[in-house]
Amino acid sequence: MGCMESVLSSSVEGKISQQTVHTERSHYVKDPTSNARNSTNNSLLPGQVFQNMEEQEGAHKVVVGLYTYDSVHPDDLGFKKGDMMKILEEHGEWWKARSLKTNKEGFIPSNYVAQADTMETEDWFFKGITRKEAERQLLSSANKVGSYLIRESEMPKGTYALSIRDADPSGTDSVKHYKIRTLDNGGCFVSPKISFPDIGSMIKHYHNKADGLCRKLDRPCVKPKAQKPWDKDAWEISKDSIRMVKKLGAGQFGEVWMAYYNNATKVAVKTLKPGTMTVEAFMEEANVMKTLQHHRLVRLYAVVTKSEPIYIVTEFMANGSLLDFLKSDEGCRLQLPKLIDFSAQIAEGMAYIEKRNYIHRDLRAANVLVSDNLLCKIADFGLARVIVDDEYSAREGAKFPIKWTAPEAINYGSFTIKSDMWSFGVLLYEIITYGKIPYPGMSKAEVMSSVQRGYRMPQPDGCPSALYREMQSCWKSKPENRPTFDYMQSVLDDFYTATEGQYVQQP
Ligand code: ADP
Ligand code: MG
Repeated sequence: MGCMESVLSSSVEGKISQQTVHTERSHYVKDPTSNARNSTNNSLLPGQVFQNMEEQEGAHKVVVGLYTYDSVHPDDLGFKKGDMMKILEEHGEWWKARSLKTNKEGFIPSNYVAQADTMETEDWFFKGITRKEAERQLLSSANKVGSYLIRESEMPKGTYALSIRDADPSGTDSVKHYKIRTLDNGGCFVSPKISFPDIGSMIKHYHNKADGLCRKLDRPCVKPKAQKPWDKDAWEISKDSIRMVKKLGAGQFGEVWMAYYNNATKVAVKTLKPGTMTVEAFMEEANVMKTLQHHRLVRLYAVVTKSEPIYIVTEFMANGSLLDFLKSDEGCRLQLPKLIDFSAQIAEGMAYIEKRNYIHRDLRAANVLVSDNLLCKIADFGLARVIVDDEYSAREGAKFPIKWTAPEAINYGSFTIKSDMWSFGVLLYEIITYGKIPYPGMSKAEVMSSVQRGYRMPQPDGCPSALYREMQSCWKSKPENRPTFDYMQSVLDDFYTATEGQYVQQP
């Protein structure tokens, strides 16, 4: 290749083309209502195949501690940063390991270690993050212009990309992505002008001078601190292990508290008013909910069911509900790109729920929570199904969320991922209006009859037409004509790089 095929309309001589890595996501879903990814492996639980493969391969894997871990349980293995361990069993978040220093065996948190003698141990290597996630992390306040990272590219698998934070003439920084190409002899390059024996030496070179990159590399992207995973056997826990500290809010079915588990781990505890649901029905659902683990879903850690009120113990989200956040002083100041990014994050979480063939049933801004670093996670998925309160479950009931519910779900109780998509359209409305109540000025009865007759909310002030079109597609009368969350995620992820279904080059 004489000169790298520039996917950029850069006129600057000698500039290396920034390979927009659009092909990484499945943009090629021609029909936005059909999910190509879903149809292929319906019978498999996600992660199942990989897990088994990992177990086989993991037999002799050696890892090195990235952080110091002090053991808290008798069967834990504590270690110091830099200690080497052999992995005996890999499953979930806790792996069984033997220390090469002390020969002791025990469980270690898998996110505290990296495979020895690989790039995983480097500060600049970010394992398993997407292009979009790389942009979010590089643009966070902890980083500045010149911050960079190396990540695995999603397409094709086994290749790498370099992402750099750059200053933009508009004043808001942007992220540039370069595809790292490999040579037959194992070397690599981003520009055919100069190649390197490995990625480490390539990084050294571009630390010294930009040499055609948008700028020279300054500092590796700051890594979010690893969170200690939840205790592996703590599912049904005792009430005594929970110390309630501060009431965070009250919902329709009980209260939510900030609490400590074993005086060590900060959690949120939802207490359910007696009679809200039967313990059996709740446990059946909770056993499924606990397997839904994704960085865009509020994690269900544990339950207390031996005495009423039932406690639901979940991840604590410092900034509360998205609805309250949008209406706060800080929320009011958010600009459109941030609102679109929130929407993209929620679509990502819902795409996971879609892939797992699960249904949320109560998606709205009040059930999305915001973390301390302003990331969104979806909460209360599946809970609606087990609530026995007639006020909530009957459409005439005062608590039934008519304004968020698809007509077929109101009329026939037909809740599907497509009725979730209807709700997502209403949630987009809530986000873009900074938390306004949908169908302003209309009663529930009016909304029900008008929507039935084909009425839809008009384009809100400040809402881009392209976003309004997506909103309208959520509100198609026939559920099967509504898009998939996988499609919605790709549209929102690329909202500023793609328009009209045509991909324009990144600046
Ligand atoms: P609703 O969904 O109707 O608002 P909930 O009982 O689910 O009622 O939640 C009540 C409030 O408690 C929320 O609006 C939010 O402010 C707070 N809350 C709920 N879950 C969490 C959590 N995991 N972390 C922090 N705050 C939470
Ligand atoms: Mg809720």
